[in-house]
Amino acid sequence: MSQLIDAVEAQPSKTRELLNYSKHCRDVLIQTPCIIADCLVKRIDQLPLEYHRDMLDLLDYSRHAEFRQDTNAFYRRLYGDLYDEMLTVAFLCEAPINIEHGNRLYTATRADIDNELQLLLGDDMLKTRFERFDVTPFDLKVDIDTGYGEWWDRDLLCENMDKLVIHANDDFMYLNDLRYTLAHEIYPGHGHFYRTLAHNSHAFDHGAMSLIEGWATFVEWHSVQSDYSRQIREYDCALLTQCLLLNGNELANNVLSLRKSLGFSHESNIRTALYATQYIGFLESYYLGALWVELFLSESAIKPLDMLNNLSNRNVGDFFYSIREE
Ligand SMILES: [Zn+2]
Repeated sequence: MSQLIDAVEAQPSKTRELLNYSKHCRDVLIQTPCIIADCLVKRIDQLPLEYHRDMLDLLDYSRHAEFRQDTNAFYRRLYGDLYDEMLTVAFLCEAPINIEHGNRLYTATRADIDNELQLLLGDDMLKTRFERFDVTPFDLKVDIDTGYGEWWDRDLLCENMDKLVIHANDDFMYLNDLRYTLAHEIYPGHGHFYRTLAHNSHAFDHGAMSLIEGWATFVEWHSVQSDYSRQIREYDCALLTQCLLLNGNELANNVLSLRKSLGFSHESNIRTALYATQYIGFLESYYLGALWVELFLSESAIKPLDMLNNLSNRNVGDFFYSIREE
């Protein structure tokens, strides 16, 4: 339902068409948990009155929906023969009892960001494993939103400069969150990945979520070792296993209680439950992708940088089995 409302908000002129299509395939609607339905009712209220009845009927139907996608079959195709091992690693990982966020920051200024970024760029161990990275000037936007950050490569923006967006909120404003967000977004994460690989590939699929986000999540877990990086990995694996095992209300409630036990804000917990239940595969792509990179590197005993270099000058997408076999 959330995706239907996204589509209607993006293309209001197609609302009737989208509604009719959704009614036609309502038997494959995924379940909308009670705590998410309240948020969706508020979004439906913002749509033109003529669509409210149909939207609310569909929402009501989706609250009791029992359809379940067989994601395992899909992931097995995507990740190939490492998939079972990835599941074993994820299920053996114990959920953290807390996350050491570090000192409180009250805002992320350009100076805070430059300071932390220089520490990452100057880290000798990172330079050995990932090669040095000369960051070029990038646009910076700090906004108030849930989540951590976004990196927009210049190729995606069709502009001359990359863009970093940092989301300021109560969950984020701690030193470790900023430090590891910069590792994820810039070095050795997305910025380095795009410069090394995407800019040198014959054809690069910018929608290759598992490879792009898997790489950035892998570097959060393994670039700078600390209690925080270990706890984040444990949290990610706990969330992943919930997403793989549960559905609808049960999944939403488990996501809420995991995050609540770790002290995250209610607003961000609802947002994570929304992603987990309404955008199947989205969160999983980060964590499964990272587990794949982790296992692939330990099995092949190559440095992370070599993996990117080996992929350069090729067609690159989310088909992990082909990366492994070529
Ligand atoms: Zn990312």
